[in-house]
Amino acid sequence: MKLGKNVVAVKETQDEARGSVHDEDAWKQISDMLSKSIGGDAFQRWFGAASWGGTLNGQGTVIVPGEIHQVWIETNYLPELLLAAGQAHEGLHKITIVVTEASPVNGSASEVLEPMLRKELPGDLLDKRATAAGLNPSFTFDNFVVGGNSQFAHAACEAVAAKRGVGYNPLFIHGGCGLGKTHLMHAIGREILRRRPDCRVIYLTCEKFTNEFIEAIRKGEIEKFRRRYRSSDVLLIDDVQFLAGKERSQEEFFHTFNTLLDGRNQVVLTSDRPACEIKSIEPRLISRFECGLAVELQPPQIETRIAILRKKTAEWKVSVEESVLLFLAEKIRSNVRRLEGALVRVATFASLAGESVSVQKVEHLLRDFIQEEASRQVTIDGIQRAVAETFDLRLADMISRRRPASIAFPRQIAMYLSRSLTHNSLVEIGENFGGRDHGTVIHACKKVAAELEMQPGLRERIERIEQQLRR
Ligand code: ADP
Ligand code: MG
Repeated sequence: MKLGKNVVAVKETQDEARGSVHDEDAWKQISDMLSKSIGGDAFQRWFGAASWGGTLNGQGTVIVPGEIHQVWIETNYLPELLLAAGQAHEGLHKITIVVTEASPVNGSASEVLEPMLRKELPGDLLDKRATAAGLNPSFTFDNFVVGGNSQFAHAACEAVAAKRGVGYNPLFIHGGCGLGKTHLMHAIGREILRRRPDCRVIYLTCEKFTNEFIEAIRKGEIEKFRRRYRSSDVLLIDDVQFLAGKERSQEEFFHTFNTLLDGRNQVVLTSDRPACEIKSIEPRLISRFECGLAVELQPPQIETRIAILRKKTAEWKVSVEESVLLFLAEKIRSNVRRLEGALVRVATFASLAGESVSVQKVEHLLRDFIQEEASRQVTIDGIQRAVAETFDLRLADMISRRRPASIAFPRQIAMYLSRSLTHNSLVEIGENFGGRDHGTVIHACKKVAAELEMQPGLRERIERIEQQLRR
């Protein structure tokens, strides 16, 4: 909103009861509080030339000298401003920032911003901006341990954050649960804010996107919803597999997505499976997901699991014996979140007991984790055996080149199960099925998914194999 001198004057007249002397006092009081809460430097930069425009019906107005001050204050300091103003003016519930035309600093946003923004954001302001963008400040590149399982994904994320990955749009990060997808996504957002504080970064889960969309329709605020997401510079959407089966949300997402890509704005997505394996999702959306770069996170190897545990103990400033760390890394393989959870339990116990814990003690302390982990260790070999047995085939048929449908289809089922029950990549699965390529595995998964819809008894049969494997 832009306001000429006259409009400000009208506002002051409407606000006669308080008078400008009172307003000056009020502004001084607000300024003092603000300066304390956001820091003197930041206060001087953004509020140094601001003044109080008056209050009307519980709404206050702050007048600033340029559009950039308006945008910056609105995105960064509104809660603090409202708090301070609420103490000076009882009953105040809203603040509007307006730009006066009688401004000495009235250049375009970029003219004013450029010189200011060459400086990177200091840590505390970065934390604030990150939180406002929906980012968890503790998910950074610094505290992400890179291993062979994540090297490529990590490099792609860093490139996107540094704007080196021009063709990486969208960046699609996929992989099993608890392997660091969300962590890397937050790290991208934070790094972008650090390097380019003027960027409008928004992080949200796909579930939140869908819920907000439904809510916006209900309230008749769809335009506002669209403006918010389509005007972002960087949109980070977590767990897009959640869109499966939600047609209207998919449609909205598709358009948001196109608007952003057309404007060369960065989109980053995560999913617990490759785009082509998300069921009940429109093909045009899948092909959009696939038009940038897809990277996969795999479960970390033992060395990386140990490195992660060491990093976490250092971060949390707890000391856990090396033998215990090795034991945890050995026992918990498939999920970093669970590895972290196990370490929390051990560290909490150690600090409560006031002593270091032995491996024996840990074994007892974590028996549920360890049992569950063991039951999750479904292997490709196990799957091949179980499928061969169910379909009365030889194990060798699982890897042979023989093509009769009575052999080829069970083999495809085994590939499908390997994809859904193990953490092996498409390439590894292909290799385990007689050196087939990953395209063959994708084809097998699609074929089985299609047959599941058509053959009535098939689902039950596959579920029985799954149960047998998990036992
Ligand atoms: P996902 O989104 O893939 O389910 P998250 O990103 O939420 O997984 O990661 C789960 C937990 O594990 C988080 O606390 C995260 O910080 C931690 N984590 C995962 N991978 C790593 C890693 N390579 N280095 C450090 N911490 C990690
Ligand atoms: Mg996640």
